[in-house]
Amino acid sequence: MQVRSLTVLQNWDCHSCGDCCRSYAVPVTAEERARIEGQGWGQQPDLQNVALFTHRGGDTHLAHRPDGACVFLGPDNRCRIHAAHGAAAKPLACRIYPFLLVPAGDHWNLGLRMACPSAAENKGRPLSDHLREAREFAAALEADNAKGAEGAPPPPLYGSQVVPWGDVGRIALAVSRVLADGPDPFERRWRKVLFVVAMLRKATFDGGGDKKKAVTGERLSEMLRVLGMAADEEEPKVAAEVAKPGWAGRTVFRQLVAVYARKDHGTEKGPALSGPVSRFWSAVRFASGRGHVPKLHAALPDAATFAASDVPTGAVSDTAAALLARWHRVKVESLQFCGPTNFGLGVWEGLESLALTYPVAMWLARVLVAGGQSPDAAVTRAVRMADDNFGFNPLLGSARQKFALRLLANRGDLSRLIAWYGRE
Ligand code: SF4
Repeated sequence: MQVRSLTVLQNWDCHSCGDCCRSYAVPVTAEERARIEGQGWGQQPDLQNVALFTHRGGDTHLAHRPDGACVFLGPDNRCRIHAAHGAAAKPLACRIYPFLLVPAGDHWNLGLRMACPSAAENKGRPLSDHLREAREFAAALEADNAKGAEGAPPPPLYGSQVVPWGDVGRIALAVSRVLADGPDPFERRWRKVLFVVAMLRKATFDGGGDKKKAVTGERLSEMLRVLGMAADEEEPKVAAEVAKPGWAGRTVFRQLVAVYARKDHGTEKGPALSGPVSRFWSAVRFASGRGHVPKLHAALPDAATFAASDVPTGAVSDTAAALLARWHRVKVESLQFCGPTNFGLGVWEGLESLALTYPVAMWLARVLVAGGQSPDAAVTRAVRMADDNFGFNPLLGSARQKFALRLLANRGDLSRLIAWYGRE
C-alpha cells in the first residue's frame, strides 16, 4: 500500500541525540529476539552476563542499563546493533521511530512524533524525502496481518455516524487549514475548530438513508466552509474576552495534565513516580492544585508551584508559534488524532483530545519558565513532553480520562482552558 506525506511542511533527520534510546521500553518480537541473540553480543566484554531482554506480562523488551539507556546504546550515542550489522538488524520499533504510519483506507499516512527533539526543532529533510524508507516500514507492518491498514474501517465521527475515508480526509484538511490561519493567535484557531465540531456533533451525515440528502464530498466541504465563517463571526477575537475556566473544569484539567506530564521510563523518569506512596501524593497534589508541582518528569523544575501555571509565559517567538501549529497540523493531517492511533476515539472526540494538548503544553511551559527556561525553550520542551504521551500513554485511553475529556468539552471548559492558557 502507498504511503502518503502531508501538506504541512515538516522536516526531520536523526541527529544521534540518543534520546529515544534512553526513553522507551522497546518491544521485540520472537523473530527479532532470535536475530539479536544470533549477533553474538555475549562475546563483547561489557555485555558478558548482561541480560539483553526483559519480560513483562508475556511481552519482551530490550533491556536497559542501570542509567536507563538501552543496553545497545554506545558511548558515542549510536546504536551498536546498527553500527555492527546495519539498520535492518534493529527491531522494527527502533527503525520506525519517530515516524508513525496511520491507516487511512487505501494508503498509510506518514506521521511524526514531536517527542523527538529533531522533529520538534524541524531539523533535517522534508518528510516527503523519507517516503522510500517509510514504504519499507509499511511493508513490514503489512507482513504482520494484524497491523495491515487495507480494509480498515474509517473511524466514526461520533457514535454510529460513519462517513467514507475521503470525507474523513476532507474534515482533516479543513481543520488543518484553520490551524494554519496566520492572522489569528493559535488559541483562537482552536476555539474556532471547537465551535465547528460542536455544530457538527448535532448533524447527521447519511441523509437518513436517502443518498441524495447525504452530506458528503463537495457538499461536506461547503458545510465546513460555511461553519468556518460562522466560527470566525462568533468566537471572541481575543483570549481576554473569554471567561476564565471554572474551578471544576480546572480541577479536571489538572488531572489530565498529570497524565501528560509524566515520564514512566528511561533516564527522564519522574522521581515522583518511583513508588505507590509518592504516586498517590502526586495525584492528591494535582487534585488540590496547591503547593509544589510533583516531579512527574525529570525535566520539571524542583521548586515550581501550581501558582506558576497561572502566570503567562510572556510572548513566544514566531519559531515557537510555528512549532505549535506544525505539531497539531501533523497530528490532524496524518489522522493520528482518531481511530486506532488514539485509543479508538471518533473524529470529533479525537479533535477535542488533540485540542486539549494545547492548554496542557502551555501549562507545562509556564511551569518550565518558572524553573528558569526561556519561553521558547519551555514551549519546545512542553510540546515534546505532551506529545510523548499523546496516543501512547494507555492511561489516556482509559474510560476515566475519556470521561474527563467529555466533561470538559460538554461544559465548554475546553475552549475556556485554551483561551486561558493561550494568553501570553
Ligand atoms: S536497539 Fe539501538 S536503536 Fe534501538 S533503542 Fe537500543 S540503541 Fe536505540
